[in-house]
Amino acid sequence: MTRIYNFAAGPSAMPLSVLEQAAAEMTDWHGLGLSILEMSHRSKDFIGIYRETVSLLRELYGIPDEYEVMFLQGGGHLEFAMVPMNFSVGGCGNYAVNGVWSKKAFKEAQKIGEAAEAACVDLRAPRQDEIKLTENASYLYYCSNETVNGIRYWYTPEVSVPLIADMSSDFLSQPVDVRKFGLIFAGAQKNFGPAGLTVVIARRDLLGRADPSTPTMLDYETYAKSESMYNTPPTFAIYIANLVARWLLDQGGVKEMQRRSVIKSQILYDLIDQSEGFYYNNVEKISRSRMNVVFNLKDESLNDEFVRQAYEKRLANIKGHRILGGMRASLYNAVSIEAVEVLADYMKKFAEAHS
Ligand code: PMP
Repeated sequence: MTRIYNFAAGPSAMPLSVLEQAAAEMTDWHGLGLSILEMSHRSKDFIGIYRETVSLLRELYGIPDEYEVMFLQGGGHLEFAMVPMNFSVGGCGNYAVNGVWSKKAFKEAQKIGEAAEAACVDLRAPRQDEIKLTENASYLYYCSNETVNGIRYWYTPEVSVPLIADMSSDFLSQPVDVRKFGLIFAGAQKNFGPAGLTVVIARRDLLGRADPSTPTMLDYETYAKSESMYNTPPTFAIYIANLVARWLLDQGGVKEMQRRSVIKSQILYDLIDQSEGFYYNNVEKISRSRMNVVFNLKDESLNDEFVRQAYEKRLANIKGHRILGGMRASLYNAVSIEAVEVLADYMKKFAEAHS
């Protein structure tokens, strides 16, 4: 079997050992004679997997007891709606807008209640002093890593209202001081497992504030009160996330993921910066993402050739987001330093051959 080097933006590369373990356990989980896919979510075995996954996450991020860890469905997009439904009642959701996902979240919030832009910048994260809250702000929302243009916040905003972060594309890639946040959410499909699972980490005292007319499944408290089992949770996705969390701990946890992601992203940014303009990246340097390295070829007519030849070397899924074009290499936790070195070597040779 020849696996590709997978630089997909999500769903994305998974640790091979996780896939192998899932395959080995597919038809008979722990000698019980059935697959996880066939197991009741109310069974003690599944509840065991569920609780262990929560506690592994608590260990990975150092999540304090006063925070709930919840497993939802609906991806980042449903969170765009649930955040204002749960937290903007009687106030105004404030949004730091810098790119595709925070803009979408802001638009959704405007449909639901009062919402305002606390900052609006392109191709970088706003500075702390550019974030201006409205007087009636009920929270500040931001996206810690913008996946399409490849923009990261290099700092955590400090505000007097609860801080809400979309960490979909940098989840578990670096240490996070959870106490600084009111709520963190992330779709699992980049760094934590399969699509279909959304993780929400929320300060308990902020829950239960949704308007009474809020549908049950859109109220965070429903999940907090039921161990995320008010209805059938995405059992298989939670099981895979459990294996990923164990893999992460084995590898050295989020500190080690941060160390690797600094190395991986630096390899590509150095190459881009030293290519004499053959490749270029438009993001302000300090805001450059360590998860999604976005770049263009000066000569766009070479784009198809670049992607085709890359694929011949098993370097796959490096095309940019459909709304942006260009190239994007996503360097999530399961992408090895070696894979990035192979990509950098290819990029270097391609530039030499076409300069
Ligand atoms: N936020 C970020 C940062 C993302 O990268 C994405 C998807 N790539 C989303 C939100 C939307 O996630 P979903 O498709 O799971 O709704």
